[in-house]
Amino acid sequence: MAQAQAMQRVVEDVVDEMRQRSDRGEVASYIPELAKIDPRRFGLAVVDAEGRVATGGDAEEPFSIQSISKVFTLTLALGKVGERLWTRVGREPSGSPFNSIVQLENEKGIPRNPFINAGAIAVSDVILAGHQPRETLGEILHFLRHVADDPAIAIDNDVAASEQRTGFRNLALANYMKSFGVIENPVHLTLGVYFHHCAIAMSCRQLAMAARFLAHSGRDPSSGHSVIPAERARRINALMLTCGHYDGSGEFAFRVGIPGKSGVGGGILGVVPGKASVAVWAPGLDASGNSRLGRIALEALSRRLGWSIFGA
Ligand code: GLU
Repeated sequence: MAQAQAMQRVVEDVVDEMRQRSDRGEVASYIPELAKIDPRRFGLAVVDAEGRVATGGDAEEPFSIQSISKVFTLTLALGKVGERLWTRVGREPSGSPFNSIVQLENEKGIPRNPFINAGAIAVSDVILAGHQPRETLGEILHFLRHVADDPAIAIDNDVAASEQRTGFRNLALANYMKSFGVIENPVHLTLGVYFHHCAIAMSCRQLAMAARFLAHSGRDPSSGHSVIPAERARRINALMLTCGHYDGSGEFAFRVGIPGKSGVGGGILGVVPGKASVAVWAPGLDASGNSRLGRIALEALSRRLGWSIFGA
C-alpha cells in the first residue's frame, strides 16, 4: 500500500512538473486528423510487477497510438513466422528519419528495422498473408484487448481515413519494397492494414497494461500465463531500445535508459524489465517525430524510480 502511494506521488509530481513547461514541440500535421489535437494534453500511467497502477493527467483518454502499434504487430509477426521474419526486415538502428526513402534504396528494399515505416509495412504484410485485411485487423485488436485486459480498445476510423488520403510517402515505400518482392500482398491491402493499426486509439493506462508481458519475460504477471517466450520478449525490448525512437533512439537511451517506442500521436510506451511498464502522452513532437515532453517526463520518472537498465 505504502509503495502504491509512493508510486502515485511520483507520477503526480511528474505530471505537475510537465504542466508548467511550455516547450511542448509541434503536433504532427502531416496526418491532418492529428493536427486537431490539443498540444496541452498530458497523460501518464505506470503498472508495476504487482499489478499496481498509478495514473496522472489525461491517462484515461484514448489517443492515436500510431507507431506504438508496431511493437504489437512485430510480436504477432514473430509468432506467425518466427526467425524467418529477419529475411524481410533488418534489426539495426536506422539513424535516419522514420519515413526515409533513401536508405531503402541503398539497401535493396530491405528495411533496416521493424519500427521505421518501411519495416512496419513489411511486418503488416507478413501478418496479412493468407487473410483478408479485416481478419488481420481483428487479430491485432483481439491481441491488444487480451494483453491490456480491456475489450474497449478500437480503431479510430477518422484517423485511418485521414492517413489513407495523405500517406503518399508510405505508398512510395510500399511500392518500392514491392518491386523487390519484399511485399507479397497487393500494396493497397498491406497499407490498409498498416494505416488502420497505426490508427488504433488507446489510453496511457491501456498501453501500460498491454505492455506488461514485455516487462515480465513474456508473461502476464497477473495470471502468470505465458504470452510469448521470454527470449522473444527480451529481443523485442532490445529492438525498442535500439530502434524505437528512429534517429532519436540514442538520445532516448542516453537520457531515459529503458526500451521505448514512440508514435507521432505523441505517445511513448516504455518497458522496465522486471519492474514496470509505462505510457506517456504529450502530443507535441521534437524534430525526430518523438514526443518532446513525453521523453522529458520519462527521463524524470526513470531518474526518480531508478529505472535505467544501465545502472543507478
Ligand atoms: N502512421 C504514421 C506514419 O506512417 C506512423 C509514424 C509514427 O508514429 O512515427 O507516418
